[in-house]
Amino acid sequence: VAASQVPRDTDAILDLLRAGGGRATASRRATIDVILAAGDEHLAAGEILRRVRTTVPDVAESTVYRILASLEDLGVISHLHLANGASAYHPAGARHQHLVCRRCGAVTDVPDTVFDELATVIDAFYGFSIDASHVALQGHCSACRTAAATTP
Ligand SMILES: [Zn+2]
Ligand SMILES: [Zn+2]
Ligand SMILES: [Zn+2]
Repeated sequence: VAASQVPRDTDAILDLLRAGGGRATASRRATIDVILAAGDEHLAAGEILRRVRTTVPDVAESTVYRILASLEDLGVISHLHLANGASAYHPAGARHQHLVCRRCGAVTDVPDTVFDELATVIDAFYGFSIDASHVALQGHCSACRTAAATTP
C-alpha cells in the first residue's frame, strides 16, 4: 500500500487485514483503534498492548504483536526506534525523522527532506543509501538546553 493510500479508518484497515486471511477479531479492531486514536504519538509495543487490554482484557501479547506485524506488512503502520533500540509504532505516512531528547524524552518529528543533503553526500562518498527515518537522533531539546544554561 502506498503511503498516500493508507486508509485512516478502522473498518477499511480491517478489510485490508481480512484480504490477507483470517477473521476480524475484536483484538484486531481494538489494536487498530488504539493506533488511530494515538495520532502523532509514538507508541511502544508494550503501551499498545496495555491500551488494547482496556478493551480486550484477555488478549495474548503474541496476538497483538502478530497484528502489529501484519499491519506493518500491509504498510498501515511503521516502526522506528526512539531510544535503547525499543520499537515504537505510528501510522505510516510521510516519512520523517525523529529527534529524541535525552533529558525529558520529548519526541520531535522532522521531515526526511532535512536529511537530503546528508544522504547525497553519503551516497557520493560511500555509495551507501541511508534510511534517515528508522532510528531517532538523540540530543537535547531547546527547553532542556535553556534549562541547563540557566542552572548554575
Ligand atoms: Zn527496526
Ligand atoms: Zn528535553
Ligand atoms: Zn513520528
